[in-house]
Amino acid sequence: MKRLLLLGAGHAHAQVLAAWARAPLPGVQLCVVSPGALAPYSGMVPGWLAGTYRFDEICIDFAALAAAAGAELLIDEVQAIDIAARQVQLAGGGQRGWDLLSLNVGSTLVPPAGLPGRVLSLRPLGRLRAAWDELLAQQAAGAAPISHVGCVGGGAAGVESILAVLARLRALQPAQPISAQLVTRGSLLPGLPPAAVRGTRAALQQAGVAVHTGQDFDPASIRPDGLLLWATGALAHPWQRDTGLATSDGGFLRIDATLRCLGQPQVFAVGDCAAWSPPLPKAGVYAVRMGPVLAANLRATLTGQALRTYAPQRRALVLLATADGRAIATRGGAALHGPWLGRWAWRWKDRIDRGFIARFQGLAPDAPAPR
Ligand SMILES: Cc1cc2nc3c(=O)[nH]c(=O)nc-3n(C[C@H](O)[C@H](O)[C@H](O)COP(=O)(O)OP(=O)(O)OC[C@H]3O[C@@H](n4cnc5c(N)ncnc54)[C@H](O)[C@@H]3O)c2cc1C
Repeated sequence: MKRLLLLGAGHAHAQVLAAWARAPLPGVQLCVVSPGALAPYSGMVPGWLAGTYRFDEICIDFAALAAAAGAELLIDEVQAIDIAARQVQLAGGGQRGWDLLSLNVGSTLVPPAGLPGRVLSLRPLGRLRAAWDELLAQQAAGAAPISHVGCVGGGAAGVESILAVLARLRALQPAQPISAQLVTRGSLLPGLPPAAVRGTRAALQQAGVAVHTGQDFDPASIRPDGLLLWATGALAHPWQRDTGLATSDGGFLRIDATLRCLGQPQVFAVGDCAAWSPPLPKAGVYAVRMGPVLAANLRATLTGQALRTYAPQRRALVLLATADGRAIATRGGAALHGPWLGRWAWRWKDRIDRGFIARFQGLAPDAPAPR
């Protein structure tokens, strides 16, 4: 019996489990490690913050998916990996061995320690859920109303999140004026075309968000009646560096064209936790597109077949939700936004996102176990 160990309930591992549910591989013991049974789909997180979706609507149910694939779901977190001994150390105290390992553990964010006041870090998503639910409960109870929302980070996550949070808080506290500002060290939405940036600036202005680019965050700007969203660039999990696997300067796991960690034929890494050369943006679309290649290559490694290569798409579709029933659609140098096109782009985004979640529902729960 060969042991295939999947670390993380990321977008690519969801596809590995779905592929396994459709076609299990006999003689393989499959196990997935995740801190929770529900894995939020990042593209829908701003919609959940805005109150458009319930939390369960934006999640892939890994318990159901693992059951359909005949896999064991271990609710735990990876703490360390011993590559030579082929052992993973878990936060709950246990250990797991593997014959073939795959990492899809995403990335993290670490706001500076000791910031005063209410700070909402956009990652990890499990902790964001608890923090946001608690804050909403306080607001509903009328405790310490928020009159200012700040955001550090001018990428897609920062923009979408500040618009979503403002829309939700203003709906909850219609009588309470809320000012807002977004601060970013770089430019707004680096990498996106000028037309998309113009549309985004218009949406931020409409929502009353003052935008400061090329500026460092000043902790002294935190207001006691405020809420700070932390949405700076994705960071690698610190333990990744200690694995001895080849990492980029930022600690992301360096992979080859078949998605294997460099020099490690039995270890794969995909999505945000991996470092492609040249670097790819940390966006869910890449983790999603790596999924089918990863599923095929794990199976090929176990059966001694040839591996497929992954080629990142040159122009990814980006759909930014602006929390006003609209979205900004951009691909290559083109962008669609405005009153009518924006509403159409939102319906398009909603259909794509709901469709992605639906792909993992209704897979036969009693598919034969791959043992
Ligand atoms: C608010 C927000 C909005 C975003 N919107 C978009 C968008 O619209 N489009 C887009 O393309 N990108 C978007 N992104 C970026 C996107 O979130 C990431 O690029 C994407 O989630 C990466 O997918 P992944 O599969 O690599 O990892 P994730 O989806 O992050 O999955 C990683 C999994 O690993 C688990 N995990 C973490 N640590 C451990 C551990 N130690 N042990 C075990 N499991 C662990 C996590 O719980 C999680 O289940 C957004 C990001 C944020 C923060």
